[in-house]
Amino acid sequence: MLPVVAIVGRPNVGKSTLFNALTRTRDALVADMPGVTRDRQYGICRVGPRPCVLVDTGGLVAQAEGIDSLTARQVRQAVEEAAVVLFVVSARDGLTAADREIVEDLRRSDRSVLLVANKIDGLEHHVAAADFAELGMGEPLTVSAEHRRGLETLMDAAADAL
Ligand code: GDP
Ligand code: MG
Repeated sequence: MLPVVAIVGRPNVGKSTLFNALTRTRDALVADMPGVTRDRQYGICRVGPRPCVLVDTGGLVAQAEGIDSLTARQVRQAVEEAAVVLFVVSARDGLTAADREIVEDLRRSDRSVLLVANKIDGLEHHVAAADFAELGMGEPLTVSAEHRRGLETLMDAAADAL
């Protein structure tokens, strides 16, 4: 069995864009509308020398449910099967209440979690990163999934966490 790396985070932070960048596919649906990705997507990516299964937790859908409970359930399911979790936040939006809720969930698991601040393009790295310090997860790995920046460093960190 290949190790599983799960991408979690609230809607619209760029999880599917990151999934596509790391798997070099367009399989995951990228949308401007929060909560639009409907299915969990699986792909293969390389983490250091090792092939891994990458999971994009877009949405397991239940549109009637509030985004918060939906997001929380996805996180739990993905985290359960993951060796490493990429917790994605948006450097553009800064820290949100939904981010904090996900962190609460992640703390209850014993998985390795990497904090990934996406959408760093056009922003000062240290300014963007400072907002997330209060999560107590250390310096975020800063990336731009859209511009394929920081992905090598991210995958090196993931390899160390495997
Ligand atoms: P998801 O809901 O977390 O899967 O987010 P998506 O991957 O669907 O992306 C949501 C929006 O953010 C889309 O409009 C993307 O084009 C945009 N986006 C994703 N990554 C980046 C990035 O690195 N920089 C910027 N500026 N926008 C991004
Ligand atoms: Mg998505």
